[in-house]
Amino acid sequence: MTFVGGMMISTGLPALAVTANEAEPRASVYAPVEDSISYEPQHLAVSGEAEVKTLSAGGYSVEAAPPPIVSEVAGVGSVSVVKSGLVVWPVVSWEKRASGFGPREAPCGGCSTFHDGIDFNPGNGTPVMSIADGVVVLATENGGGLGVNVEVQHNIDGELITSSYAHMQYGSLAVSVGDQVTAGQQLGLVGSTGQSTGPHLHLEMFGADGVRFDGFAWLSARVG
Ligand SMILES: [Zn+2]
Repeated sequence: MTFVGGMMISTGLPALAVTANEAEPRASVYAPVEDSISYEPQHLAVSGEAEVKTLSAGGYSVEAAPPPIVSEVAGVGSVSVVKSGLVVWPVVSWEKRASGFGPREAPCGGCSTFHDGIDFNPGNGTPVMSIADGVVVLATENGGGLGVNVEVQHNIDGELITSSYAHMQYGSLAVSVGDQVTAGQQLGLVGSTGQSTGPHLHLEMFGADGVRFDGFAWLSARVG
């Protein structure tokens, strides 16, 4: 034991060797404990500074939730859309696509030469799923050229994003206007209603300005 103690002193800090000669050599053993006790107030002080910094910046810390986005749902009223970061593909076999976003040759008489959505070809009757948590703002079997059509509004990291799912099968609507849906929740089934040349999902995406953007690029960048 004496030998071990001697080793500790000889390999310890010079301060420890000095205090070992004093009346209460164990005082030095407690010294590190005092250090860790004084650390606690320091930790709390850091938290306080972070809070002040958040307020002065006028923004939101990583932990704090941003204000909810409110959707105006016809017949339902204002519905707050919970922020969501989880994004999923609207169908399985999402890699089977027929037509991308942008200029194209019109595939039918009344079809547009600018494709304002992206087409998925997972097969007739494949479940169509919401790309993220959100609120259903449109669910109709009479969407004109879009046929059986569902629109969902999302709060993606504080930004209002709308996804529109078109040409689904009659009788396949699984949601109603005002419904809160979660990412991956079934909205309907892939069909060919409206202005469609065959069973496919036509997905349109747009922000608060209503301008359609390339949903495939958007999804590709976000789907984990
Ligand atoms: Zn399309």
